[in-house]
Amino acid sequence: MIRINENFTKLKASYLFSDIAKRVTAFQQANPQKSIIRLGIGDVTEPLPPVCIEALHKATDEMAQRSTFKGYGPEQGYAFLREAIAQHDYAARGCKIEADEIFVSDGSKCDCGNIQEIFSTDIRLAIPDPVYPVYVDTNVMAGRTGGNVDGRYAGVTYLDSTPANGYVPAIPSVATDLIYLCFPNNPTGAVATKAQLAAWVAYAKKNQAIILFDSAYEAYIRDPAIPHSIYEIEGARDVAIEFRSFSKTAGFTGTRCAYTVIPKSLMAYDAAGKAHPVHALWNRRHTTKFNGVAYPIQKAAAAIFTDAGKKQVKDMTDFYLGNAALIRAAVTKLGFTCIGGDNAPYIWVNTGRDSWEFFDLLLTKAGVVCTPGAGFGKCGEGHVRISAFNSRENVVAALERIAATLK
Ligand code: PLP
Repeated sequence: MIRINENFTKLKASYLFSDIAKRVTAFQQANPQKSIIRLGIGDVTEPLPPVCIEALHKATDEMAQRSTFKGYGPEQGYAFLREAIAQHDYAARGCKIEADEIFVSDGSKCDCGNIQEIFSTDIRLAIPDPVYPVYVDTNVMAGRTGGNVDGRYAGVTYLDSTPANGYVPAIPSVATDLIYLCFPNNPTGAVATKAQLAAWVAYAKKNQAIILFDSAYEAYIRDPAIPHSIYEIEGARDVAIEFRSFSKTAGFTGTRCAYTVIPKSLMAYDAAGKAHPVHALWNRRHTTKFNGVAYPIQKAAAAIFTDAGKKQVKDMTDFYLGNAALIRAAVTKLGFTCIGGDNAPYIWVNTGRDSWEFFDLLLTKAGVVCTPGAGFGKCGEGHVRISAFNSRENVVAALERIAATLK
């Protein structure tokens, strides 16, 4: 008899964004004349930078000629892209990352979801709350978390991000082995200082632990004192893996390209205490289960590192940050406190009310979709996330409707 992986039955009933989509669809069907503005899911709205389009066209033409046609490429990514990443995202910020420590993939969601496969199932996890749900759910599927009791998994050390700690969690008092951190944060938009990240690196070192650092939103950092990479912290090469994505940096959510950095000095241990390079484990996993990102997509990704590409990326992220500034100003004017939006495309609003109730209020009265904080974890209750990913026109209209509803 075929049997299921029963860990899947421990997952919370459905994925947050499917719940939201169901409520929005039901409302839209009942009120077909009402216009709805979506500031919920974090998907970009602006077209790809022109340098990427140009590179896509050129690479497509190469695929049309026998002499330049490409079949399977290197699973880890073409050297031209890995070298550009090493130079522009790392060397330029003083981080020592070699091109062959970079694994190109078709998305950070897959990478930060799949990485746990290379670690033992009985390790101790530290996961932020609120959190990007992928970190928790993939560990539930792998059987690392135990059952869900009252909205929390017994086997997880939760890193609470609350108004009291400025939404940057404190170092836990207990030892853990695998620590998920995300800065600039989804959903809160909070950023971590060098000193805060240095404390995490020291904690990981002390516990022979590994930090999984998700910096999918680093392109939104404008404060020059805020680190873009965990590798800006001394010693991080020995304790951290970093995930980056072209999705929010350059509008690649539908184009798909990301990368994971695993320094060769990073070790994890077997039951006998013998050290194994994590780079080799991930290389084995990646080459066994993945066959590389399409050549034209990698060409488009590499184009953002040209001078013109850098300017176009800056213009695009500045545009979304302009939306974020309007959102911050509007919700502050309505009397709410909020965080994010200055170095991140998300604004985390402390509503002081049940977050699904607030979500329903904005949907039914203002026709605006936000994301209820409770969907990101227990500490998200009392908050909603508003995304800056939309046209200026829609953001302005949504803020007018919210103001009219709430004043
Ligand atoms: N990490 C975080 C924190 C995210 O918010 C997202 C997407 O919303 C991702 C990773 C996924 O990025 P990708 O589009 O590369 O899969």
